[in-house]
Amino acid sequence: MVSSVDHLNILLVEDNHPDAILIGKHLSKIEKPRLSLCHVSTCRDAIRCLREEKFDVILLDLSLPDSFQLDTVRKINKEAENTAVIILTGLDDEQMALDSLREGAQDYLVKNEMNPAVLKKTICYALERKKQLQQIKNLVYNLMESNERLEKYARQLSHDLKQPLQTILGSGKLIEYLEKNASENIRQLLDLLIKSAEKMNIMIEELLSSCRLEAEEKKEWLDCEKVITEVLELLEEQIKTRGAKITVNFPAKYRPVVVYYNEVQLERVWQNLISNAIKYVPQDRKPEVVITAEKQPNQWLFMISDNGIGIKETDYKKIFLASQRLSEGEGMAKGSGMGLAICKQIIERNGGKIWVQSSICQGSTFFFTIPMAS
Ligand code: ADP
Repeated sequence: MVSSVDHLNILLVEDNHPDAILIGKHLSKIEKPRLSLCHVSTCRDAIRCLREEKFDVILLDLSLPDSFQLDTVRKINKEAENTAVIILTGLDDEQMALDSLREGAQDYLVKNEMNPAVLKKTICYALERKKQLQQIKNLVYNLMESNERLEKYARQLSHDLKQPLQTILGSGKLIEYLEKNASENIRQLLDLLIKSAEKMNIMIEELLSSCRLEAEEKKEWLDCEKVITEVLELLEEQIKTRGAKITVNFPAKYRPVVVYYNEVQLERVWQNLISNAIKYVPQDRKPEVVITAEKQPNQWLFMISDNGIGIKETDYKKIFLASQRLSEGEGMAKGSGMGLAICKQIIERNGGKIWVQSSICQGSTFFFTIPMAS
């Protein structure tokens, strides 16, 4: 591999003089790119040099008189974030060299196996890796920034939309109240207006709460059964109205089922899934919901089954998209079509997955996973 640059500034940090002379000799045999070498023997001198001058590559011995092993990598990396670091190691030190890569070094070289060709190849690869890493870092940074901007915009927009919407809703209700003798046509239109405004209100609320997810990142150990009990209290009215039977059936050998999660987010997931499991059951049937858990090698698998209307296989993916409702129409359950999209967002951000299996008219089972935290 040939480097695309003509000239490289190299800092060699090596306290063993014979080694330093040998490395200097190897480097002097490299014709292209041209190399300028600065040699220091201590971590302190290396840091001083890095503050005074810009280097492209640092060849770093790990055992220096004033700094030791990984600590050396950390100190140097902190000082020269944009410079490629290559660790120089003895034969018996390869594990340490690998640990250094995790600390941010780009590569390592075993001193005894060094020659000009190996040195040149390692330098060029390390530079390329560093360049790509920088590009990824910049991309991530830009993405985070634009995400933050979008979130702020969505939050502002939600607030701004709510004001005129409340006016529409309030006025509609007032007209409905004042015009008791209005014709059937007018009353139908008013009804439509109020229902649409209410629906939009729910959608804006959910958009807002989806924006708030970013802020709710504090995680703690949570007993899932306790969280579900709290959610069932919140859903008390819906459960009573529909005469729903909810069974939490966690196998005794797994209990308590404890996960590391943000409480608000976990509540929201259970609330959306349980509420849907009750909501999408035909009116002439009493909802029966069963919640179970299974311990898998690296994760918990949760299942929420209902005896509801079911979902067509072709809609399995669609229902997790924002604003996708399949059950529109007269007499159907109300909703904004955001609940499952929010669940998916939460679950995936926490390293899990969510999916559904269903039989039309017989019921659905929603599955989701939570990785096991150590
Ligand atoms: P909402 O319930 O507000 O419409 P969701 O995102 O929670 O929004 O659900 C999206 C769609 O998925 C629903 O409109 C419904 O058609 C379907 N759905 C969700 N849960 C169930 C379920 N348990 N059984 C049948 N259909 C469901």
